[in-house]
Amino acid sequence: MAAKIKKGDQVMVISGDDKGKIGKVIKVFPKNQRAIVEGVNIVKRHRRFVSADRPHGIIEMPAPVHISNLALVCPSCGKRTRVGFRFEGDKKVRYCKKCNDTIDKD
Ligand SMILES: [Zn+2]
Repeated sequence: MAAKIKKGDQVMVISGDDKGKIGKVIKVFPKNQRAIVEGVNIVKRHRRFVSADRPHGIIEMPAPVHISNLALVCPSCGKRTRVGFRFEGDKKVRYCKKCNDTIDKD
């Protein structure tokens, strides 16, 4: 199954504490259907000192959120949208169900 959310996408959180927040997808974990989104689901972690070039002390980092809690923000119309799939030539691409524009442009 093709992924609806990909690295680099702009997404909106649609449920939970961060509802309404918009951020960029930093990393996707397809196996457990989770994604890390910039500025979303920030957790404080205490890291002990390992070496001077590693982050240590209390650091804030985004924790993965389930993809079902995220909606794609269309790069063309700027609206929160649902993603559809279609073929352009022999390539499967995502498109915005609101404005019908292709999301995966190369
Ligand atoms: Zn759109």
